[in-house]
Amino acid sequence: MKKLLVANWKMNPITVLEARQLWLASRRAAKGARNVQLVICPPAVFLQILVSGERPANLWLGAQDAAAAASGAETGGISPSMLRDVGARYLLVGHSERRALGEDDALVAAKARLALRLGLRVILCVGETKRDERGEYLKVIQAQLAAVLPKLPRAMLGHLVVAYEPVWAIGAQATESDTPAGFLEQKLFIRRVASQLIGRVGRHLPVLYGGSVDELNVADFLTAGEADGLLVGRASLSIKSWTKIIQLV
Ligand code: PEP
Repeated sequence: MKKLLVANWKMNPITVLEARQLWLASRRAAKGARNVQLVICPPAVFLQILVSGERPANLWLGAQDAAAAASGAETGGISPSMLRDVGARYLLVGHSERRALGEDDALVAAKARLALRLGLRVILCVGETKRDERGEYLKVIQAQLAAVLPKLPRAMLGHLVVAYEPVWAIGAQATESDTPAGFLEQKLFIRRVASQLIGRVGRHLPVLYGGSVDELNVADFLTAGEADGLLVGRASLSIKSWTKIIQLV
């Protein structure tokens, strides 16, 4: 299987010009990266601008969030149908930064369900805020999966990917990433829980790692960690780092 390499630009960059430069760098790097499916998740306002023009077959656009309704009275909301119409094919759901703003498991499930029904591939983010010696954090991940997976349309489960992102390893405040061995344990745990919840398809669920991925640890997460792909925040905003990561994958 090709590795899935996902860039989460978050609320960056500020201008269309910078967004275009980052996108063009991904486009250049994608051309030489036959073993990689690249997904760029810019702020939604940039999607339509970036989608125009030529694009290699392994380069896709995704969105960082969507409403749980297809249309209607939701001021500021952007529906999965709209995102699809302006070029998104993937959607991040349940990112820890959205959960920190108050998004609960029920809302995450509703967003994932609708997005799959409306033709988007869903990258469901799960992860604990802190890790404890006794393994209590596993209950957090189990609960996040149990709240969402059984609610998804069975026929669309092939369009689901899980991203394991321990919150303590994400963003500028993180002191470290997970280890490849630590991630591999989580991947096996996630697949086991998923197979209990949704059957056979859960045993083969692609599981990505996210949290302080950079040029130095990318190879280890893919080899020793057996990650099916990576979700990259900060390092995807530097053309130099991002290009190097694509080459390494
Ligand atoms: C993220 O927020 O999804 C993420 C992985 O961020 P970073 O790579 O900056 O830790």
